[in-house]
Amino acid sequence: MKPLQGVRLILISDVVYAPYSGMLPAHVAGFYSFEETHIDLRRLARFAGAQFYLDKAIALDLKSNLVLCANRPPVSFDYLSLDIGSTPTKVTVPGAADYAIAAKPVPQFLNAWRQILAKVARNPSHPLRIGIVGGGAGGVELALNMQAALARVLQHPQYLALHLFHRGHALVTGQSRWVGDRLTSILKKRAVTVHLRENVVENFAKQGDL
Ligand SMILES: Cc1cc2nc3c(=O)[nH]c(=O)nc-3n(C[C@H](O)[C@H](O)[C@H](O)COP(=O)(O)OP(=O)(O)OC[C@H]3O[C@@H](n4cnc5c(N)ncnc54)[C@H](O)[C@@H]3O)c2cc1C
Repeated sequence: MKPLQGVRLILISDVVYAPYSGMLPAHVAGFYSFEETHIDLRRLARFAGAQFYLDKAIALDLKSNLVLCANRPPVSFDYLSLDIGSTPTKVTVPGAADYAIAAKPVPQFLNAWRQILAKVARNPSHPLRIGIVGGGAGGVELALNMQAALARVLQHPQYLALHLFHRGHALVTGQSRWVGDRLTSILKKRAVTVHLRENVVENFAKQGDL
């Protein structure tokens, strides 16, 4: 809001619209639109007097202080802040790279989710099975919101089989046991099958499964 004299700011991002993941589950449920849950980085950069480069940073040259990008010439810097988030590694679980959809990067996840919704809208009487791996806050929120969204589209609630797998003794490990148990009972009421103390060791797909 108060640009510093002599400071040139550059924002490099591989997406124009940055997802706000805290609102992602509610977007999945259909409560908020894409625009409401994403930050327009071009507008933000304009507001902050920063330059915006839509590109992927692929390497750093720390001898010459350069960020190497996939498409544009190297970008020089005096100070660099790296905020590229995390991407779950799927290689440790056999089959996950082929059959699982990671919640991050969010744009890929949302693409896959839109495809699932479109498929269900085309065949609302076709049974659907979805497994969610990870019963932390993100997995629980996604399970509840996916169930809410799909229940509206499917002709009958029984056409949906939603499974949530978690290796801990209770959901949202780290929170109080009461929270975990309460979430388990809410999920059960919504016909989501909760599998506790389960380590997912392999993914494979039968025809028609997701
Ligand atoms: C379903 C779900 C719900 C969540 N809910 C909450 C919540 O309610 N509250 C909370 O505090 N946290 C929540 N989180 C966690 C939260 O998403 C992360 O802690 C947070 O996003 C991390 O911010 P970040 O800026 O480090 O990374 P990110 O938000 O992942 O942002 C990184 C950005 O960098 C870009 N990028 C990556 N690599 C490159 C590259 N090489 N070149 C250029 N750009 C690149 C990506 O496109 C992305 O836009 C949730 C996560 C999930 C999956």
